[in-house]
Amino acid sequence: MRKHHSAIALLREALSGHTGWPRAWASPLPRDRYRVIVVGAGGHGLATAYYLGRNHGITDVAVLEKGWLGGGNTGRNTTIIRSNYLQDPSAAIYEKSRELYEGLSQDLNYNVMFSPRGVMMLAQTEHEVRGYLRTERANYLQGVETRFISPAEVKKRVPIIRLDGPRYPVLGALWQARAGTARHDAVAWGYARACSAMGMHIIENCAVTGVRSEAGQVTGVETTRGPIGCDRLAIVVAGHSGRLAEMAGFRLPVESVALQALVSEPIKPCMDVVVMANTVHGYLSQSDKGEMVIGGGADGFNNYTQRGSWHHIEETVRALVETFPMLSRLKMLRQWGGIVDMTGDRSPIISPTPLGGCYINCGWGTGGFKAIPGSGWATAEMIAGDTPGPLAAPFGLDRFREGRFIDESVAAGVAH
Ligand SMILES: Cc1cc2nc3c(=O)[nH]c(=O)nc-3n(C[C@H](O)[C@H](O)[C@H](O)COP(=O)(O)OP(=O)(O)OC[C@H]3O[C@@H](n4cnc5c(N)ncnc54)[C@H](O)[C@@H]3O)c2cc1C
Repeated sequence: MRKHHSAIALLREALSGHTGWPRAWASPLPRDRYRVIVVGAGGHGLATAYYLGRNHGITDVAVLEKGWLGGGNTGRNTTIIRSNYLQDPSAAIYEKSRELYEGLSQDLNYNVMFSPRGVMMLAQTEHEVRGYLRTERANYLQGVETRFISPAEVKKRVPIIRLDGPRYPVLGALWQARAGTARHDAVAWGYARACSAMGMHIIENCAVTGVRSEAGQVTGVETTRGPIGCDRLAIVVAGHSGRLAEMAGFRLPVESVALQALVSEPIKPCMDVVVMANTVHGYLSQSDKGEMVIGGGADGFNNYTQRGSWHHIEETVRALVETFPMLSRLKMLRQWGGIVDMTGDRSPIISPTPLGGCYINCGWGTGGFKAIPGSGWATAEMIAGDTPGPLAAPFGLDRFREGRFIDESVAAGVAH
């Protein structure tokens, strides 16, 4: 039974040694059959399940996870949330997502620590200035609040920054004041708790190893815990999408590569916004614990290794030290990688597939944490209605055949 989180509940538990909290989500045995199976208990899979129940009343749902919940990219990312993309379909889904993040803690009754502290994307070449001015104007027409700010305003907001770096000066920045960060694990845990409370099954340590079908229609999956039947299947496995698509009998225009990040020792508060320096390549925010959370690069070759490498530390730290000289005195504590799924146009895929009743949500690449609520909303709408709704429709697989790309390579390349 889910316990309501409130100040009174917290006080009561504090007085009784926090022994009365129930488990956040149940660990049931898999049933033989569900109406909907979602593969992947990352943020996108869990949000899909949640909005299937909340928006469409579909609760006969299982979320199958091969490892532990949130242990994929959802628990490995640098948590930047923004919506100032260039193309209209992107602005629509990322802005929907940012808006949902604003009310997510209340909606889930779980503190996801959304912090709209502002995100700044530095312009360090004339080319970048022109690109960001174009994005600023596109965002104005899309109703997304963002603005290009001067070097003086950059310095005012981020006193630790150096404007006249050895390679590139800071010429201004694209600034989205309502953008920010959230606690990544909490997003997964909050959705999981709400799904479990609706009676859905979240089954960890259950890898999908095959997809069953009959006459072109999905009928279920093979798993390490036995076969499970379903009417609808949603594949939401980020870097493993190619593998799952192969099981379902189709191919995806997606490459899987490791994207890396690192974190420093904790220090006193020194920066209360998120800064991305895309030309030198490094980006930075300060966590509530005081660690500097640092985004690195993506590997230049396809792989499935969830770990860091020396040359990325060197490149990323070099870029950050020239932009924030004070960081040169910090020790780095941890480094890791996650397997991201990159499409050619750097936009996601939310789509029906050649297998009837089987849907896919993938291709979020280096920037899908920010999209979790909007993506779950759109994917649930597609599954419930058996056809993509307005948010998902532009992101269909057909666009690669028809040449109808949603080119976000500038806004979403490796920046977040
Ligand atoms: C280092 C790094 C930094 C990033 N920084 C940002 C950022 O700042 N902002 C941002 O917006 N995005 C960022 N991202 C991208 C973001 O993390 C991802 O786009 C997002 O988390 C994808 O979520 P997901 O739910 O699709 O995938 P995941 O969280 O990876 O979940 C997929 C799940 O599927 C499971 N799975 C795979 N195969 C199977 C199978 N056969 N059977 C059952 N389960 C299976 C996996 O175990 C996994 O738990 C970053 C990513 C990385 C790696």
